[in-house]
Amino acid sequence: MQRQYEPLREAIRAAIDRVCESGRFILGPDCEQLEKGIAAYVGVKHAVACASGSDGLLLALMALGIQPGDEVIVPSFTFFATASAVSRLGGVPVFVDIEPRTFNINPDLVEQRITSLTKAIIPVHLFGQCADMPAIRAIAADRKIQVVEDAAQAIGATCGDRSAGSMGEIGCFSFYPTKNLGAFGDAGMLTTDDDDLAARLRLFRAHGMEPRYYHKVIGINSRLDSIQAAILNVKLPHVNRWAQLRRANAEFYTELMTECGLDRILTLPVAAPGRRHVWNQYVIRVPNGRRDALRTHLATAKIGTEIYYPVNLHEQECFRSLGYGAGSLPESEQAAREVLALPIFPELRVVEQRAVVTRLAEFFGTAKPASPASVKRPKFLDRQAETRVEKRA
Ligand SMILES: *Cc1c(COP(=O)(O)O)cnc(C)c1O
Repeated sequence: MQRQYEPLREAIRAAIDRVCESGRFILGPDCEQLEKGIAAYVGVKHAVACASGSDGLLLALMALGIQPGDEVIVPSFTFFATASAVSRLGGVPVFVDIEPRTFNINPDLVEQRITSLTKAIIPVHLFGQCADMPAIRAIAADRKIQVVEDAAQAIGATCGDRSAGSMGEIGCFSFYPTKNLGAFGDAGMLTTDDDDLAARLRLFRAHGMEPRYYHKVIGINSRLDSIQAAILNVKLPHVNRWAQLRRANAEFYTELMTECGLDRILTLPVAAPGRRHVWNQYVIRVPNGRRDALRTHLATAKIGTEIYYPVNLHEQECFRSLGYGAGSLPESEQAAREVLALPIFPELRVVEQRAVVTRLAEFFGTAKPASPASVKRPKFLDRQAETRVEKRA
């Protein structure tokens, strides 16, 4: 985080200063600029800023008119907010299993769970890779079911020629600090091509109020802070380069691990054909119950890893009443036991990646990465950016 802040420090501080001088701290011109910037980036007509990605999901379902008893199909192997938005409106999350290679919702299984009560599907573009949107769109269009994309981890990802957030009725983005475009606090954004939906989202995010103190619908307070918007406006022009660096880091991990033969022990993540993966996370699978021991081994070398997600939503205490037992979503449950996310941020250094793979090789007793001189440079690396990163190393 510090490595990204350093080169942007002056621009960010100046942006914060401008907001302080303006005295306008909620919504306002900085938010409007961000909305325009994101709409153009995603390739949609409208973007509506809100206070977080979680609020974005809730607002999307409010704008689509989700009512108590309505069913909404979601993956279980995802962050909590994907499903809690449904429950908070009295809807019923219907959990569906994933495709093991992409970790994304399995469209064939989606189809099996559709009933007369199904109102929406929320595919999640997990770890920065789009779900199978053509298949999901086809299932939804046949039955007039709405699609809300949870694109919280996937800004800039594509599926065919479409961007994440432009393939459903509404796209939801999060600018939580660890996302590919991260604010200095909570922030979120909704995207849509539909004029009426955009107007409803604006209404719902500000107490359903229009004009002032006249309330048309029961909305919530989910306005975006101007300071967060100003910071995001500084960062947005860099988001493609950061994605490129993340991709280069992912390729380099895969190359190093393959060189060591670790690809025969671990399952390495893949980008599905025709999809641009933006690598919010690089998630390996560790088989045979050795994941937690590996994590401890890496931690002793001060290598921070994370488990997204250790417990599926269908097995969470708060969703127990929905009646999904252990074994009901086998691929999701296996993923929860095996996944481990390695450091992948754009400013990660080549030496650091080598250190991570060296520790992995140590743990599994494979060959270690060859000496640095013989290691090829990552193919997709933006040379200019790399030089900058290496200089600071
Ligand atoms: C981060 C995230 C959210 C929630 O976003 P916040 O801004 O933290 O509220 C929702 N869904 C997924 C898949 C996420 O990763």
